[in-house]
Amino acid sequence: MSLLNFIRERSHAATEEVIRLRRHLHANPELSYQEHETAKFVADTLRSYGLQPVEGIAGTGVVVVIQGQQNSSRSVALRADMDALPIHEANSCSYKSKNTGVMHACGHDVHTASLLGTARLLQESRDQFSGAVRLIFQPGEEKNPGGASLMIREGVLDNPRPSAILGQHVMPLIPAGRVGFREGMYMASSDEIYLRVVGKGGHGAAPELAIDPVLIASHIIVALQQVISRNASPRQPTVLSFGKIIGEGATNIIPNEVNIAGTFRALNEEWRESGLKRIVHMAESIAIGMGARCEVELSRGYPYLENNPELTRRIRFEAENFLGKENVVDIDLTMGSEDFAYYSHVVPASFYRLGTRNEAKGITSYVHTPTFDIDEEALRVGPGLMAWLAIQELSRV
Ligand SMILES: [Zn+2]
Ligand SMILES: [Zn+2]
Repeated sequence: MSLLNFIRERSHAATEEVIRLRRHLHANPELSYQEHETAKFVADTLRSYGLQPVEGIAGTGVVVVIQGQQNSSRSVALRADMDALPIHEANSCSYKSKNTGVMHACGHDVHTASLLGTARLLQESRDQFSGAVRLIFQPGEEKNPGGASLMIREGVLDNPRPSAILGQHVMPLIPAGRVGFREGMYMASSDEIYLRVVGKGGHGAAPELAIDPVLIASHIIVALQQVISRNASPRQPTVLSFGKIIGEGATNIIPNEVNIAGTFRALNEEWRESGLKRIVHMAESIAIGMGARCEVELSRGYPYLENNPELTRRIRFEAENFLGKENVVDIDLTMGSEDFAYYSHVVPASFYRLGTRNEAKGITSYVHTPTFDIDEEALRVGPGLMAWLAIQELSRV
């Protein structure tokens, strides 16, 4: 039997097992950097496949190397994230979250279960490939500074440096059974901006005695959108959104201060830096010009994520071989962000999407919502595809 057919058949046969793993993880979600039970479950499962995982990397990270039986210095890395979100699950499935207020609403349970399935398939086909596959189960994708950056600092991309790293993420816009790829720029950098406009409160009927931070904050918000329309190149996707503005005055009370919070996203590191500088300078200057002051705090998030074009082209081609052309789609860039981006700044990387949608079954909710779920048919293809892609990358001369 060809290797492709072997992996495809084993993957199909192992689907029930992978679903069982996923349901266990889904029912027992843990927040970012607190994935203790999850990590233990991952390590125990890997050991049950005859592997020797290393635990406790960057806190709760787990790494395992699967060595092919033929000799080669080549290695590739595969990554899954393990953390859940502070969301109260509204689904009523049998595997609903048992941890109140915590939910796998971004599919990281799916990524983890799928990579465990991949581990088993690779272990079973060791005599069919040369080189090594490093499987990275990381903590804290959903929260700064991003578990990926910590794992890299702990050396998961060293000794030897893998020639490629692949990541897979659920996508509720793509039907289950299909996967999506994109070459080049794929996701944005993301930084949080906190503005505190401090004026002088007073009676609403006597504005001449006050310094109105509500008016000044309004000017700042309008002016900052002009950083996007006048300073960002029209060829350069950029987003600035303020989702929070708080001024606790009343109809007749001008408050002392107004607090604003928002997100700045870009696809270019130079522009990211200069854009942030402009935002800070403009907010401070407008406040000063109007007799107030503005304190700006920036919380730096993840960099942009670029999918290595050659690597992505190769794995897209191999995905077509594995799943059939009709099940491989192109995806557009998004201004969302992902800490997988950190890996992409160190080694050639590709982050692709695993379709999880099934309208007939009513499975359409987006990630980060209380009703998010997946069509588990996606797990029929996820583990096998990743094993196949890893082996194909290793077999390049
Ligand atoms: Zn998420
Ligand atoms: Zn996610």
